[in-house]
Amino acid sequence: MAGLTLGIALRNRNVPVVVCEAGRYPRHRVCGEFISGRGIEVLHRLGLWDMLVAHGGLQEVRTVAFHADDVKGATVSLPHIAWSISRYDLDALLADELVARGGELMTGHRERATSGKGVVLAAGRNPGRESSAYRLLGFKVHARGVDLTSDLEMHHTDNSYVGLCRLSHGRVNICGLVRTRRPVSDLRSNWNQWVLQQGGRRLQQQLMSAELDPDSFCVVAGLSYLEPESLQSDGLVIGDAMHKIPPITGNGMSMAIESAELAALCLTDYSSGAQTWDETQKRLRTGLSNAFQRRLFWAGKLQRFLLGSRSQWSVRMMVRASGWLVRPLFHLTR
Ligand SMILES: Cc1cc2nc3c(=O)[nH]c(=O)nc-3n(C[C@H](O)[C@H](O)[C@H](O)COP(=O)(O)OP(=O)(O)OC[C@H]3O[C@@H](n4cnc5c(N)ncnc54)[C@H](O)[C@@H]3O)c2cc1C
Repeated sequence: MAGLTLGIALRNRNVPVVVCEAGRYPRHRVCGEFISGRGIEVLHRLGLWDMLVAHGGLQEVRTVAFHADDVKGATVSLPHIAWSISRYDLDALLADELVARGGELMTGHRERATSGKGVVLAAGRNPGRESSAYRLLGFKVHARGVDLTSDLEMHHTDNSYVGLCRLSHGRVNICGLVRTRRPVSDLRSNWNQWVLQQGGRRLQQQLMSAELDPDSFCVVAGLSYLEPESLQSDGLVIGDAMHKIPPITGNGMSMAIESAELAALCLTDYSSGAQTWDETQKRLRTGLSNAFQRRLFWAGKLQRFLLGSRSQWSVRMMVRASGWLVRPLFHLTR
């Protein structure tokens, strides 16, 4: 998302662009597909929002409810309307738009250069491990036949949180972050049962008659969400490659889009010769720090609160207090 958005933003300014993508479009991604925050304003500014609306895949997300196994949370209105859209559609639409605006897109091409003059790294998350005691896995699958009590439901257990988000055309995104002490064996054939074991008993019952789409199932390992000491790095780095925000915030796509817009502003000046490469790097790093340091700090605290060692107690407390907690948490992590 970060790379395609940057490419489009640069093409809007007539800067020549080549985007290298190791995979091919369309394809499913592990993502809650819930998009909110300042990134939506950027999509408007880049002239992409109308294209997404015309495609018909956007779905409004107005309400959220947090649940734990034995505690049912209230349905709360989000402070601002958010949206959902399948990454299968969204990434492919952005890829087409980049080409339509004169960018060059090389799919199936794994680029080796990660820094250098004019090179921007937007290659997604760096694999990592938070602790020697456990691993974090992320998964996503689309489903039909799921009754939701709110547009977005978050189900918490001691070792996981699973989100259910209403998508367009009667589909629901089921996406979770799972803490596991042992490797999960034979996920390829057992994925269906494994998904149904996550998120607690309440969710299991809710998904009893759900129809899971096997083609949409995907999983990632090697996730870690330690708080950044700083957003400094060699070269120009944007999106998850710069830093991942915990999925509970639903703000990763927004950060990818926002960082792309900031990078486009700096790179336009580099491209016209108004700024050296060193100045460009320095300016972007300052911009990224100003934009993201605070939300990453609070998102890290929230993540530790939910999946930390005393999570059993904290999760129930959060679910009980979700009626008034949603608004401040939403603002602090955006
Ligand atoms: C469980 C989970 C749930 C999430 N839910 C949400 C949510 O609901 N809302 C939200 O906003 N965010 C969510 N996120 C985060 C969101 O998915 C990411 O923040 C977002 O995709 C980051 O975009 P990106 O462009 O930086 O990276 P990516 O989308 O990962 O894109 C990186 C791309 O780089 C390509 N690539 C990698 N290396 C190379 C190379 N050497 N050469 C060429 N191409 C390469 C990859 O193929 C990939 O396509 C979630 C994440 C997880 C793990």
